[in-house]
Amino acid sequence: MPKVRNWQLNREMDYPYEGVRPQRQFGAVFDINKCIACQTCTVACKNAWTAGRGQEYVWFNNVESKPYGFFPMGWDVRLLNELGPQTWDGKTYTGKTIFEAAPPGSVALGFLPDDDDYAHPNLGEDEIVGMIEPGSTLAMPQLAWCFYLQRICNHCTYPACLASCPRKSISKRPEDGIVLVDQERCRGYRECVKGCPYKKVFYNAVTRISEKCIACYPLVEQGRQTYCILSCIGRIRIAGWIHPPENINPESPVDFLVHVRKVALPLYPQFGLEPNVYYVPPIHVPLPFLRQMFGPGVEEAIATYRQAPDDPELLGALLLMGATDRWIDRFRVRDGKAIGYDADGAEVARVPLKEPIYIRPDFDPALKVYRHNIT
Ligand code: SF4
Ligand code: SF4
Repeated sequence: MPKVRNWQLNREMDYPYEGVRPQRQFGAVFDINKCIACQTCTVACKNAWTAGRGQEYVWFNNVESKPYGFFPMGWDVRLLNELGPQTWDGKTYTGKTIFEAAPPGSVALGFLPDDDDYAHPNLGEDEIVGMIEPGSTLAMPQLAWCFYLQRICNHCTYPACLASCPRKSISKRPEDGIVLVDQERCRGYRECVKGCPYKKVFYNAVTRISEKCIACYPLVEQGRQTYCILSCIGRIRIAGWIHPPENINPESPVDFLVHVRKVALPLYPQFGLEPNVYYVPPIHVPLPFLRQMFGPGVEEAIATYRQAPDDPELLGALLLMGATDRWIDRFRVRDGKAIGYDADGAEVARVPLKEPIYIRPDFDPALKVYRHNIT
């Protein structure tokens, strides 16, 4: 099997396909701490891309409550269980990836969910770990916790969906690394559904072909953010080009958050796909759970994130999330403001690091009226 370099594992790994990095790679950062699970992103994506027949249970974007929420049912715990011990030696992964653990005759360890596993898209919503006893007060770390996990296709550097397809119907675009299913070539064998550990390829039972998140490529081609990002109420998301560590652009907000400050981490890096959606981990969740989900960098990421109020550059990059519909190629912080620029150097976003507060006097002498604050 050919060898490829996976920087998230800090080692080479087996990949059963031609592993060529694209010229540029679509990436995104989601800050879990800011998500309110309003599902606006989910509905925006649904309305844009999957409102047709056979797509009733196709959710290119979903937000699930962890640890008890899944879509489809048990997508991660089932594979984690089958993969066996996932050991790290410092930053180097010493366990097996899903490619290295593939059973004979398969390219990746995986499973095909049952139809019923797709029946409850938001099962487990807001279910917490632990009991809230009468008289409990908020303590850190919280004894009772849950958090929201925003999920789209990761447009992986080493996609298992692509490697699994016997028809070669899935491709990774060289110009932006976006992974697409060719709807003409696909025959609906569902090997991609089985192979994707994140279960982000869906089978349409009406058209009998597979479909997946397209990273809103018509918008990306115009230098615009994706629909899930444009619609996000919590302003928790930002898309941008992500580079491998030896080739980063420290002025890009995505590279900055992932590689410079290292506050954003990949989801289940141990699967071995080098996923390109990164998460700022939730600060209130027990570390062993987070280490399993985001790898060995969680402690450092949370400690750095907590310092954001004293780190203007980090604060600026975080505040630029959702600040514009444009793609931010470069940012800087100046005079208490974070400023984003597009690829042509034009300013596309300007956000104050500290929101100004205006206190309105009770009495308005011009109108001779008293105004009272109301709630
Ligand atoms: S998340 Fe799944 S569907 Fe998306 S590129 Fe990776 S393997 Fe393919
Ligand atoms: S729109 Fe934003 S805040 Fe709302 S659920 Fe989606 S990611 Fe979370």
